[in-house]
Amino acid sequence: MSANLPEFNLVKPSSIAEALAAFRDQPHAKFCAGGTDLIPNMRHGLFEVETLIDLGQIVGFDAVTINGADIELGAGISLSKLVGRADIRERFPAIVKACEKVAGLSHREAATLGGNLCLETRCLYYNQSEWWRKSNDYCLKYQGDICHVAPRGNRCRAAFCGDLAPAFMVHRAEVELVSLNGARRLPLADLYVEDGAAHLALQPGEILASVHLPAARARSTYGKICQRGAIDFPQAGVAVSCRKEAGVLQFELAFTGTNSKPILLEYREPLGPKTDADSYFEALEKQVQKSVSPQRTTTTAPHYRRLAVAALAVRLARGLV
Ligand SMILES: Cc1cc2nc3c(=O)[nH]c(=O)nc-3n(C[C@H](O)[C@H](O)[C@H](O)COP(=O)(O)OP(=O)(O)OC[C@H]3O[C@@H](n4cnc5c(N)ncnc54)[C@H](O)[C@@H]3O)c2cc1C
Repeated sequence: MSANLPEFNLVKPSSIAEALAAFRDQPHAKFCAGGTDLIPNMRHGLFEVETLIDLGQIVGFDAVTINGADIELGAGISLSKLVGRADIRERFPAIVKACEKVAGLSHREAATLGGNLCLETRCLYYNQSEWWRKSNDYCLKYQGDICHVAPRGNRCRAAFCGDLAPAFMVHRAEVELVSLNGARRLPLADLYVEDGAAHLALQPGEILASVHLPAARARSTYGKICQRGAIDFPQAGVAVSCRKEAGVLQFELAFTGTNSKPILLEYREPLGPKTDADSYFEALEKQVQKSVSPQRTTTTAPHYRRLAVAALAVRLARGLV
């Protein structure tokens, strides 16, 4: 049962500049977009927050700009609007497939692209009620001294479980980050750090403003393994893109749910007309198994998730040939 939502102040800026100024005045504030993850986490007491800065009122934060073959998506665009865009579905199918697999219909109406890419990491020992965590001496991610997943280690192993990041990564998306110091743009993969307690390379007060998709040069797809058929975070998820250059195929793959950050695998081996496909995909499967590091962050065994995500990756890759 969810606890009551604690008291907090709510600020409703109507521009990014106002949101940044609000953070300068309240440096312990948190940004809230759709609130579909943040609000349940507040109910569970997973962090303390005095002030929420609601990004949902920012004018133009959900804008879509077409620059020739490139597309720029405002971070405030809802997942249901992304699903409804025929151009994204046609050119970046992995993105729409991933959106369709996030939570439930009503979540996707409120949930935003920026919120999904900046999603908190998750763990069996963290996403629990206050009394449960207290009975277990809390954990390294919040209020405790050890990581129960890897007690001998010195970092939190909570896993990044957002569905959208891998789908954007295999299409070489870049993100625009803005702060009072200006704007910077980086490949989406560089937004993430392998540390469950500090997995985003965002500076305090920095906002993910937009996502840039370069012209689509690859076909793509997305699949995930979860315990329930719907409304469930991925135990592991995989996006695959396949591009044809000089008569050979090359794959890029990205994974979620296995590490504290989404993992990008640029598989350099070409699949040509004379390549033995079975040996090729066997090698790809082994490479995926080596690239991911699932931990005891869910009730499903890490070894199972490692094998399952590799098998799913190969099934999806074969489907793109
Ligand atoms: C029952 C349930 C099932 C779910 N299933 C899934 C699932 O299958 N897959 C999945 O990926 N997610 C799932 N979620 C999580 C969540 O609904 C989605 O990830 C959603 O896309 C989060 O977006 P949001 O706009 O609601 O983010 P919020 O909850 O508003 O924010 C999430 C985090 O991002 C930060 N943030 C938000 N926007 C920005 C920005 N522009 N710049 C900087 N920081 C920002 C916030 O401070 C917060 O830390 C589920 C949630 C629930 C409750």
